[in-house]
Amino acid sequence: MKSILFILLAIISATWGLDLATSSFPPDSHILWIVRQEGMYLTGLLSIALMSLSMVLATRPAWLEKPLGGLDRIYRLHKWSGILAIGFGASHWLLKLSSDILKPLIGVEGRLPKIKYDGLLEVLRELGDDMGEPALYAMLAMLAVTLWRRFPYHLWRHLHRVMPVLYLMLALHAALLAPLTYWAQPVGMLMAACLAVGVVASVMSLAGMIGRRRQVNGLVVAVNSDGDVTEVTCQLDEQWQAHRPGQFAFITFDWIEGAHPFTIASADRGERTITFFIKALGDFTNKLAQRVKTGQTVRIEGPYGRFQLARSKPDSRQIWVAGGIGVTPFLAWLESLQARPEETREADLHYCTRNHESDPFVGRLQTLCAALPGIRLNIHSAKHGDVLTADALKLAEGQKKKADVWFCGPSGLADALKKGLKDSWNGRLRFHQEAFEMR
Ligand SMILES: Cc1cc2nc3c(=O)[nH]c(=O)nc-3n(C[C@H](O)[C@H](O)[C@H](O)COP(=O)(O)OP(=O)(O)OC[C@H]3O[C@@H](n4cnc5c(N)ncnc54)[C@H](O)[C@@H]3O)c2cc1C
Repeated sequence: MKSILFILLAIISATWGLDLATSSFPPDSHILWIVRQEGMYLTGLLSIALMSLSMVLATRPAWLEKPLGGLDRIYRLHKWSGILAIGFGASHWLLKLSSDILKPLIGVEGRLPKIKYDGLLEVLRELGDDMGEPALYAMLAMLAVTLWRRFPYHLWRHLHRVMPVLYLMLALHAALLAPLTYWAQPVGMLMAACLAVGVVASVMSLAGMIGRRRQVNGLVVAVNSDGDVTEVTCQLDEQWQAHRPGQFAFITFDWIEGAHPFTIASADRGERTITFFIKALGDFTNKLAQRVKTGQTVRIEGPYGRFQLARSKPDSRQIWVAGGIGVTPFLAWLESLQARPEETREADLHYCTRNHESDPFVGRLQTLCAALPGIRLNIHSAKHGDVLTADALKLAEGQKKKADVWFCGPSGLADALKKGLKDSWNGRLRFHQEAFEMR
């Protein structure tokens, strides 16, 4: 993720640098006024390029899943490119305000002359100028509520829908206020390309076209709940494309609530029937068991995700770690392996639960693993003092040279295991993680 952002920033900065190298300034220009102006151009360019990237990633581009490692990573990149874009946008605005400091400090004599535009172009530039400030304030407010984790997700989602409108305002600002000389140079061409893809993505979002080609209708055919976890099975329309074990889908039970992502916890049996295990974790999922009824229609969008066993290296040690409801992709893996147990590779499955005696998945895991001799199931019950640590994992696994760790569960446990294993594993270790968070 970092390298993608770094490459984009480097390319934009290089094209800006190319323009700067060929620019000339009036001889009496003060260096600080030049720095201010060029700084504004650079921060403006970086901001709009990152914002365009963020808009494109928000369209859930399935074709980018393979190069970027799955939709959860795409969303993380979307988030960080958005945060950086707003950061550069704020710097751009601060540089603009810096004229109030520069004027008393160095005077206005060395200021770069303003280019005069006439007629419609001048009117449009004023319009573009007026759009920038309110759009940036709105973006800063959005950033604040995004980072404020206590802000309710369902409200945040509705607020977040304003982003394409803000993007279009800022795209207009950038296109109209960029120096006209840019458009005949690499920097302008690059900006035009960024604006074009960003505008298309924004229009797609406003027109409700995101994910539409992957959406199918379905019917709830079974519901079981123990109060904490609700099992929902759906029969889907013929347009549903087969899913691979470990993938997830967005499910809409209720139009006002909108779509929520859940892992498809069953294997694909060619019958277009899929099962979800949904844990009561918040506003909507707490009430789901009372709301969802057999026979009700649902809309499913997917499948998405790259949490797929097929991505493991053939000669690597398999370590699978599931924490709580993070067991769902592993249930799909284990179920799909039932049809060909002889092909199952050796793996250690560690399931971390609060209390194995009351856990709804322990029995299911034991049954599924009983038919798969290669899979060694380890249940870690926190109530009984058995908490999985990186050290315990290293001892149990004997630190073979290559290992694929597949993790799905709480991010705190993931961070601790990742750090502990990466610090001391004697060999190549690949840590695959399915993030259950998109904000
Ligand atoms: C790829 C993926 C797979 C998942 N698989 C499962 C699963 O198999 N079983 C399971 O129980 N949970 C799963 N989750 C988590 C599940 O999506 C959330 O617990 C659920 O959406 C919470 O909704 P809420 O309104 O009850 O909670 P809230 O309190 O509103 O939200 C809690 C958190 O859930 C996430 N969330 C809420 N609504 C959405 C949404 N519409 N889109 C994206 N994220 C949202 C946000 O990170 C939010 O901070 C998965 C999440 C992801 C991203």
